Amino acid sequence: MHKILFPVSEAYPLIKTGGLADVAGSLPPALKAQHCDVRLLLPAYQQVLDRAESPKKILEIYVPESNAHVRLLETVLPGTDVTTWLVDHPESFQRPGNPYHDDNGRDWPDNASRFALLSRVAAMLGLGSTNLSWQPEVVHCHDWQTALVPALISLASRRPATVFTIHNLAYQGTFSAETFETLHLPGKLWSPEGLEFYGYLSFIKGGLAYADHITTVSPTYAKEIQTPEFGNGLDGLLRHRSTQLTGILNGVDDSVWNPATDDNLVANYDASRFPEKQKNKLALQREVNLPANPDVPLLGLVGRLVSQKGIDLVIGALRQLVQMQLPFQFVSLGAGAQEYEHALAELMLKYPQHISVMIGYDEAHAHRIEAGADMFLMPSRFEPCGLNQLYSLRYGTVPVVRGVGGLADTVIDASTASLADKSATGFVFAEATVSALVETLKRALDLYQDQAAWQRLALAGMAKNYSWRTSAEQYLHLYGTLIGTRT
Ligand code: ADP
Repeated sequence: MHKILFPVSEAYPLIKTGGLADVAGSLPPALKAQHCDVRLLLPAYQQVLDRAESPKKILEIYVPESNAHVRLLETVLPGTDVTTWLVDHPESFQRPGNPYHDDNGRDWPDNASRFALLSRVAAMLGLGSTNLSWQPEVVHCHDWQTALVPALISLASRRPATVFTIHNLAYQGTFSAETFETLHLPGKLWSPEGLEFYGYLSFIKGGLAYADHITTVSPTYAKEIQTPEFGNGLDGLLRHRSTQLTGILNGVDDSVWNPATDDNLVANYDASRFPEKQKNKLALQREVNLPANPDVPLLGLVGRLVSQKGIDLVIGALRQLVQMQLPFQFVSLGAGAQEYEHALAELMLKYPQHISVMIGYDEAHAHRIEAGADMFLMPSRFEPCGLNQLYSLRYGTVPVVRGVGGLADTVIDASTASLADKSATGFVFAEATVSALVETLKRALDLYQDQAAWQRLALAGMAKNYSWRTSAEQYLHLYGTLIGTRT
């Protein structure tokens, strides 16, 4: 039974800002189901303490470089039997707002020291330098917040193997060179081959340069990030490490995203009861104040309102669809850049018969959009994996996506040929332009008029199986190879 430590900065349902939490909430139980002794490690944010089931103190740790006394609390990930350790350091983690920024969207000024502390505790647990008898064979880290772990662990002679997963290369944890000093990081790590990035301290390089193996969340993104267009300045390093870089697709957590059991819906359904989906559409139209009309195609969007997600393309396309007087409705849920929030809200005011926008974060509403919409928009500029299109496929809500990263790996465009051989599952376009999105939406709206063909397309998506089990098998294989290599 492999022993895996899984340090991460968010995990559903304890705390979630995006897809990383979905992965950290689903992959560990899937690994556990395959007899892996996996333990989650995450910060004891206030929200986590509020939701955790009776956390118990199991250890006190002094972290000298951070001059921090930390309590390690033990609980389980709710709804699972995955042991979860919380790094309790109120000064670092108990504050209002989001894990990474305050209510005004400004990064917490002490993010470097907060996540260095999390990483140091993970490294100490990884190396067995605390009083805890449990020691992992692999430490599997995620994104910049835990990327210092492989770097710190690499300095020890007897050590576990390390895996670093890139969930989004655009977020790198870049800080001033002085931060390297104030964090008291080992001098050996400061070099262009190490944590230095053009004179700055880069947390993510700790994972990219020092982990025994790097994974990312789709095969296409694994290739893309080795090119200047998607590499965010790190493509050279990633090309250098290409033999230790693989893409493993994320999955869908059936206990959370399943239209047959989802209790957020007014009517549950599956492929054999597909017409029930209509009830969710009508309920959604009523809920968001759009005319309740089963025949008008309803487009949905849920996500962070940031440039990555192509929100500007959506805004431009909506304006054109209205001008062209095409029959459609649009419902969105998300928060992010003010310019997008304002532009969407303005569109709603101007075209209330067509457009309904909710600014904010609401888990249950996200489920109702996935179930109630006819199609789901994801015109991302880049998309490491993307989970919403997987949820859409599962809910028979046809995804309209740009063919990048995980979107390219999971959605098959409805061409004449793919419709004929029934392999089509959605609509895919190439250029990140308003006109390319509009052309694709016109194709989708057109096909929607042929309800039999539309239903075939939706059902083909529902028949796809993106399970965590398959992904967990691939991670287990990787862990096994790394552990084997090290003995
Ligand atoms: P990313 O991780 O880049 O934000 P993903 O598609 O991988 O994008 O995952 C996003 C996850 O966050 C999905 O589970 C999605 O439903 C959820 N989500 C994003 N924004 C919201 C929101 N405003 N309300 C509820 N859930 C949201």
